[in-house]
Amino acid sequence: MSEKIAVCPGSFDPITYGHMNIIKRGFAIFDRIIVAVAFNISKKTTFTVEERVSIIQDLFHDEARVTVDAFDGLLVDYVVRKKAVAVLRGIRTVTDYENEMQMALTNKMLNPQIESVLMMTDGAYSHISSSNIKEIVKLGGNAESMVPKSVQTLLRRKFAMK
Ligand code: ADP
Repeated sequence: MSEKIAVCPGSFDPITYGHMNIIKRGFAIFDRIIVAVAFNISKKTTFTVEERVSIIQDLFHDEARVTVDAFDGLLVDYVVRKKAVAVLRGIRTVTDYENEMQMALTNKMLNPQIESVLMMTDGAYSHISSSNIKEIVKLGGNAESMVPKSVQTLLRRKFAMK
């Protein structure tokens, strides 16, 4: 049987314990997961695409089933190029659900072969978002329960430079 690959796309600016939990739990369904960091032309990010890719690679260096990549263009085209069968995304709130549902239906219209798997957040991570972590760190707080220590250090460095 051929291996089942999922693409887990996102901004990951930066990756959080919430994202990491979705990726790890994805292995209950998929053999390999490609974490695809989006070039957001419209979104101003704190970390460059290269930085975001490198942060995720470091965190998953001992997990051979995870590949980290950067992508732009249509997600469904990227999924086909990577021979993946599904898009894996996480859901925290009703708002997430509405956005993800709309995105999943749009992707289905663009390519009916590709499935979207929307995984419910683990209760422990439901309050975590990249933007609230950045706010906490910017204000001098400790976000260690939400993001790996190494990532918090990079954030502190980034904000100190500004
Ligand atoms: P995007 O800008 O594409 O929404 P994000 O990096 O913000 O990218 O999120 C990527 C995916 O991870 C989205 O599906 C989002 O709903 C999900 N996600 C973000 N934070 C969490 C969390 N704490 N728990 C579960 N899923 C999450």
